[in-house]
Formats: sequence, C-alpha cells, structure tokens
Amino acid sequence: MKKITINDLKQKSIRYIKGVGESRESLFKKLEIHNLFDVLTYYPREYEDRSSIKNIADLQNGVPCSFEGTIVSNVSITRPKRGMTVSRVSIEDSTGKITAIWFNQPYVKNSLKLGDNYIFFGKAERKLNKLQIVNPVFEKASSKDMKKSLKILPVYSSTKDLGQNIIRSVVYEAIKIINDIELEDMIPLSVRDKFKLPDRTYSIKQIHFPASVRDIESARFRLVFEELFMLQLGLLSYKSLATDTRVGIKYTHIDQMEDFIKSFPFELTNAQKKVFVEVEKDMESSRVMNRLVQGDVGSGKTMIAVLALFKAVKCGYQGALMVPTEILAEQHFKSIKSLFDCFGVSVELLSSSLTKKQKQLIVEELKEGKTDVVIGTHALIEDYVEFKQLGLVITDEQHRFGVRQRTILTEKGQNPDVLVMTATPIPRTLALILYGDLDISIIDELPPGRKPIKTYSVNEAMRERINNFVREKVNEGRQVYIVCPLVEESEEIEAKSAVVTAEDISKSVFRDLNVGIIHGKMKSSEKEAIMKSFVSGEISILVSTTIIEVGVNVPNATVMIIENAERFGLAQLHQLRGRVGRGDEQSFCILFNQSNSKVAKERMKIMTHSNDGFVISEKDLEIRGPGEFFGTRQHGLPELKIANLYKDMEILKQAQESAMEIIQADPGLMKHNELKKHLAAYFGDKVTLS
Ligand code: ADP
Ligand code: MG
Repeated sequence: MKKITINDLKQKSIRYIKGVGESRESLFKKLEIHNLFDVLTYYPREYEDRSSIKNIADLQNGVPCSFEGTIVSNVSITRPKRGMTVSRVSIEDSTGKITAIWFNQPYVKNSLKLGDNYIFFGKAERKLNKLQIVNPVFEKASSKDMKKSLKILPVYSSTKDLGQNIIRSVVYEAIKIINDIELEDMIPLSVRDKFKLPDRTYSIKQIHFPASVRDIESARFRLVFEELFMLQLGLLSYKSLATDTRVGIKYTHIDQMEDFIKSFPFELTNAQKKVFVEVEKDMESSRVMNRLVQGDVGSGKTMIAVLALFKAVKCGYQGALMVPTEILAEQHFKSIKSLFDCFGVSVELLSSSLTKKQKQLIVEELKEGKTDVVIGTHALIEDYVEFKQLGLVITDEQHRFGVRQRTILTEKGQNPDVLVMTATPIPRTLALILYGDLDISIIDELPPGRKPIKTYSVNEAMRERINNFVREKVNEGRQVYIVCPLVEESEEIEAKSAVVTAEDISKSVFRDLNVGIIHGKMKSSEKEAIMKSFVSGEISILVSTTIIEVGVNVPNATVMIIENAERFGLAQLHQLRGRVGRGDEQSFCILFNQSNSKVAKERMKIMTHSNDGFVISEKDLEIRGPGEFFGTRQHGLPELKIANLYKDMEILKQAQESAMEIIQADPGLMKHNELKKHLAAYFGDKVTLS
C-alpha cells in the first residue's frame, strides 16, 4: 500500500473534500486553509465532552458537561426587552436542582415536557449558590439519538460565516478520505518505539473525533511531539550547519578600548560591563561567537554592539549591524558615527532610500575595505553587498528577523562572529530551548536615574482629561507619541487609522500644536524628514503606527498614548511603552482600552502593575499562549499548530533530546533521507537545509 506524504495532502485542494464548493473554499481561505493538509491540521481548540453524564450536584462552574434530569416546572417565557425572549425551566435529578435558561429560543418550550427526562449539555454556572445553565443543548433521555449525543465533539475556532457545524462536517469528510490509507510517518521508528507514539493516521483521526478522553491525550501527545520534534530537528540541523566545528576569528586585546569607553557621555552600567566581558571572551576565543544579548527596552544594548564593532574594527575586520527599520538604522548610524568619528572608525549607512549610484559607492568601499562598519536594514543581505573582511555580524531586535536572513548576512564573511540582540524578553527556560546552543547574555539593569513609567489604563470617558494632560506636557516642552493599531491585516487601513487620527486632532483639540504623522506606507525620505523634526523637537505630537515599536530613541518624548490598546500583545505594548522613559523626566503611558472583556482588563492590569519585561512576557505567554508568541512572524519559524510551549515543556524536552541524538549521530541527515525530505516539506521555505 502506498503511503501518503504531507506533500500529497498539500497537493489536494480543499475542493476535493465532499461538501466544499466555491463559496466555502473562499471562506476557508480566510482561515488560511487551502488544502487537505490544512484541514487535517486545523486542530480543535477544545472539546465538548458529552460522553460522561454528571450528577447535578457535581457540576462545576464554567466546565462544559452533560447531565441527565427531569423537568420539574413548566417553561416560563419572559420578554425583558423588545425582540428578546428568555425561557426558563427547572431541572432536577436525585442530587440537586438547576435552572436552564435560553435566550431567544422560545420554541424550546415545545420540546420540553414536564416530568420527562432529558440529557443536557452545556456550561453550568454557580451564582449565589444557585446553579444555572445558559443555552444548553438537550435530547430526550430515552431517544434513539442518545448515542449520538454521548460522545466527545471537537470545537474549532469558527468565524461568523463558517460555523462550528460546517467545520465539523468538512473535517469529518476529510478524515473519511484518509480513513483507509496510511499516512507516512515523519518520526523515525526508533523514536516512535521509545516514546510509544501512536501512528499518524490514528492520531489525526482521534484528535478530531476522539473515542474517549484518553484517545485525545495519546493523539495529542503524538502530534505535539511530532511538531516539536520537527521544530527542534530543523533548528538543530540548521545550527549544526552554521556553527559546529568551524573555527572562528581570534580577536586580540585592544589597548584603545579603555579610551574609547572613557569617551562615552555616561558610565557603562554594571550589567553592560558584565555582558561585554562575556562578548569579549567569545570574540577572543577561536570558536565562532553565537551570542544572544537580551535586555529590556532601554537597557542600553546598543552600547554592546558599539563596543563589539569597535573591537572588531581595531583588529582589522569589518562589522555589519542589521536593524529592522529604516528609522532605527538612521538613528543608530548617527549615534554610532558620533562615537566612532574621533577614533578613526569609518561607518556608512546603507539604506534603501539611497540612489543606486550611492549604494554602489558604499558597496565599492566595503569591498575595498575602506569602510569599517556598515549599518542598514534588509538591504544588507542583498546579493550585491560584499565585504573585504567581514568579521562581525550583529542583528538588532532579532525577533524581527528570520533565522535565514541572519545566515545570509554571515555568509558574506568567513565564519564571522555573530551577536544578536533582542528586547523581546523570552522567559529564560524557553529561550534556552528555542535558541538551543546560542549563548545568552542578559542585561538585567537599566541605566541609573530611570524612573519607572507610570502607566494608566483608561476608557473614552477619560478622553478630555488625557487631552488636557497632553497639552500640559507639551507646554512643559515635552513630546508625545500617539500610536494607532493595525485595524485589519491590511497596511492600507492601518495607515489610514493613524492618518485619520492625525487629521482629526490637528483640526480640533490640538489645532494649535505641531502634529506629525508617520506610518509604513510613507516613502523613506518622508519618514526620515518626519523623524528629523520629531528628534529636533519641532513636532510635539507624533501620531504613528507600530513602526516606531522598535528601538526609536527620543528622550524628550515622555508621553506614550496607545489607542485600542486591547488589540496589541503585551510584549508589544511593553515595546511601545519603551519609547518613553528614556531620559531623566518622569514618563507616562496611557492605554486606551476599548474592550470590556475580562481578558483585556486583566492584560491592562498587568501593564499598569509591571514595568518588567520578563514578568510581562511570562504573563503574555500564559494568557495568549505561545503559539502566537512564537509565531512565524516573530522568529521566521513554522507556526505551531498544536504544541503549547508553555504547557508542553516536558514533551519539548523529550523531543529535543531525541532530535539532538539524531543530529549528533548524523549531522547532515545523510542517513535519514526520508526525514530530511519531511523536514523540508514541514518547514516549507522557511529554513534552507543544504
Ligand atoms: P535598548 O536596549 O532599548 O536598545 P538603547 O541602547 O537604545 O537601549 O539605550 C537607551 C538609552 O539609554 C539611549 O539614549 C542610550 O544613550 C542610553 N544609555 C545607554 N547606556 C547607558 C548608560 N550606561 N548610562 C546612561 N545612559 C545610557
Ligand atoms: Mg535598541
């Protein structure tokens, strides 16, 4: 029998599934579901366990469950508002009593008969010691359908147009297709045996339509294991190619270093000194440096980059600093140039806004070795960029780059040392796993004199007071950011919401103040001009999208206002907040929360209570789940569809160990051809495996 591979499944359009026509196809497309593989790996969010019947007395608050009971009252119907009906009935079993309530389903009255027994399913709530259940589904206890109701049903993330039942039936049909075939297993037999992993077809079937809770568990274990195993294998084989046995540059001690450090306008913090000692040790060893520098926003990571670049250049090599945005590149260029100028280190900015000729000139000088350090955005990884003697590669705000981009840059040198810097405070345990053999340094101290940013969560009712506050601060000579969120996935709209806000306030409340706007749709030259006038203080209020999220440094700006703060992740809010509090003045962050949801409020509370990025990231992870946290966008890795790096830490360790064993025995996966093929299919074009 031929085994079906992932690629085979990916080749089959979703239209191949019974019941999917053109219109459903386009609805599924919105969920990024295009083919049979996507459907089969669209895993349930949770389950409705209709399989075990509970006593009424044992029903737990908020936990979905089934119970059987007798109707002991007539169904009463009230109409508290126009267009709204509320039906109520009392239900009893030998252990207790519960009230069922249905909104806008007056017809339930016709299906429930006083004195008869029914099976109900839903989430019970305990209120003032009384039990109630809202909108439960139910079936006659003796009915033939009972069997149908007594099972575990998957619950998928649905949309308005794609309801639960449609998704269920489409997945059901998809499962039927693979029912009789064997899916090729990606995990080597030895590993499967060791961890007693069930096979793939079984796992996929059971994860969607489980026969029992135990089946969900074993299926989930297998699928989580598989996902993490492949992830680790991908990362490790990638790293083993990048680091392993290679001999790096052995930098030497630089006498000038002390003078250079003395020239700084401030004393380095102890944390900065400690981290640079670690970096310097790496640079002086013959091993290739692969170090991640983690430090909260404002902790002064740039200085570490400056010191490392200086050392590299003084030892006769060139350095490259890659940053995610033009604004940041420009800013780094200016501050670094001013430090380097007196010490004879030449630095250039390679920005995409330069003309072709200007770029050519810069590249020419890099090739000849006339330029020591180049700073730039992704422009640095273009083919035409070449170096004479690239010895150090630094990426700032690492979370914005994929693994691949960094590697392309390092390949422009001969085993250059690599330093990556990030402000995304990944909880340490996770960082160790995610970055595997990357060495980690942490700047765990802010420069002296920083006052914690005072953060407030407010709603529309506070608008006027906030506006007055903004005006007060501007009168004191301070500057203000107003950040508008991405309203939809479209850049167009995102930009518009900032545009609309800027237009609005500059015509009304802040008519007399200088309001500027900056967003990703603007030309580089326009952005530059705006940033210039914000830095110089000409602009008092800068309305922006999240493009200012990373790295922007204007110490005179002390107020950060974030519109629709509920739409941002906590880590991102923390990054945005980090744009203020960069000088000696007290800074403020105002979060406009437009949501009443409990989660949103909880998240705002975390922000107002903590200024510590590590605490915030832990919480963020807990609330949002790491699927999002470690999403493709952040790390250039395939998205995790089922594993939860927070909950599944144990499985992660096992998967990592197994992956490590395989890679150590067979670094290029030469003896694991099948696995290598799977890996390529699994990672898509995210990672290149040579
Ligand atoms: P981040 O870690 O967020 O990249 P930066 O490197 O941009 O932080 O530094 C934030 C601000 O702190 C900058 O204005 C920088 O000049 C300043 N700074 C850095 N190190 C020190 C220090 N040791 N003492 C005082 N200010 C410092
Ligand atoms: Mg920075």
